[in-house]
Amino acid sequence: MNYENTLAFAQAQDAADPLKQWRNEFHIPKINGKAAYYFTGNSLGLQPKRTRELVEEEMQKWQDYGVEGHFVPKERPWVSYHETVKHSLARLVGAKPIEVVSMNNLTVNLHLLMVSFYRPTKQRYKIICEAGAFPSDQYMFESQLKHHGLAPEEALIELSPRAGENTLRTNDIIAAIQEHANELALVLFGGVQYYTGQIFDMQAITTAGHQAGAYVGFDLAHGIGNVPLHLHNWDVDFATWCSYKYLNSGPGNVSGIFVHERHAHNFDIPRFAGWWGHDEGERFQMKKGFKPMPGADGWQLSNVNVLATAAHLASLQIFDQVGMEALRLKSEKLTGYMEFIVNELSGDKGIFEIITPKESKDRGCQLSIFFHEKGKARFDYLVENGVIGDWREPNVIRVAPVPLYNSFEDVYHFGRLMKEALEKI
Ligand SMILES: *Cc1c(COP(=O)(O)O)cnc(C)c1O
Repeated sequence: MNYENTLAFAQAQDAADPLKQWRNEFHIPKINGKAAYYFTGNSLGLQPKRTRELVEEEMQKWQDYGVEGHFVPKERPWVSYHETVKHSLARLVGAKPIEVVSMNNLTVNLHLLMVSFYRPTKQRYKIICEAGAFPSDQYMFESQLKHHGLAPEEALIELSPRAGENTLRTNDIIAAIQEHANELALVLFGGVQYYTGQIFDMQAITTAGHQAGAYVGFDLAHGIGNVPLHLHNWDVDFATWCSYKYLNSGPGNVSGIFVHERHAHNFDIPRFAGWWGHDEGERFQMKKGFKPMPGADGWQLSNVNVLATAAHLASLQIFDQVGMEALRLKSEKLTGYMEFIVNELSGDKGIFEIITPKESKDRGCQLSIFFHEKGKARFDYLVENGVIGDWREPNVIRVAPVPLYNSFEDVYHFGRLMKEALEKI
């Protein structure tokens, strides 16, 4: 695509954008009375206007029915409220409905899935992950290993990019898996790396992990709603994600899990149990003896957080209406536009460099811009002028032009303000 760094070009792109009307479905935060240039959908997605209505529906049921809200309402009774989001989630991650359920929060789910899929033995106890994983994931690994009486320094293999490179090569990941094959219990990677925005080749990693005799899982916090996923066909064992980043379901909102169909009827897989994972038909008989539901449902512990799930549902309706294919198409163009502008500003002066992969197929919509100097002061200038972005020490700005609600014009103004920042600071 031939991009131009002009307002007229950006406006023409917006006018021709088949998804342009979706921006109106969201509340765009204001700064000094003007719509902000919001590029932090990778941290907290914006609020869909319809969310309030769906949450209020449940407030009304609570008001009208009290506890009977679980069974009496014809529409979306609480007892099965989690099922209202099941099919949409399955579509987003490329799964069968039996393979997914929404529940808990992301780090909690990582721990629960580790209980089932990390079963270290004397021979097989190693875990391969990416170096510099999101801190919560690092703490999860460390505490799980200690829980099993293992030393993280020995059991956790963290893969770093080659010297002078910013992102991991798939071949190097596969080579590491093969190298540790005899001791490997688990490969657990981010699907899209939170810091660099790199998409890992989930299919290749899964195949290599399985050939080595290990389970393979993914943390899709930055993947879901951002890039196309085919977890079932890729043969991934398990995955989990959050719903408040690209899924726009609200701060701290509910997570979800994927467990591959081939584990759906294996009730011998160890797991931590609660009443919501118990056979639905006899859940309310309150009997002794845990009988898990088949599939991902059998990993549930607690009854549904209905108010939160209502917000989740509102957002997923939008994804169903737009479809990931159309979103991805716009996402590649919009991110490409931002890349073009940033590269043009930096020119051969080497002011900053983008550490996110250059190929669209290797990245989602986030660009991580590494400043060689004066990064924080320039970032502060952007913030003072209406940009909401994300600063990561020591010198990286992460910006995510989100195809659902960001426009080409937003990206143009980002570039314009960045240019001013370079001139003034
Ligand atoms: C955002 C994010 C988290 C956050 O975990 P919560 O349990 O939802 O607070 C964890 N891991 C990754 C990779 C993330 O991007």
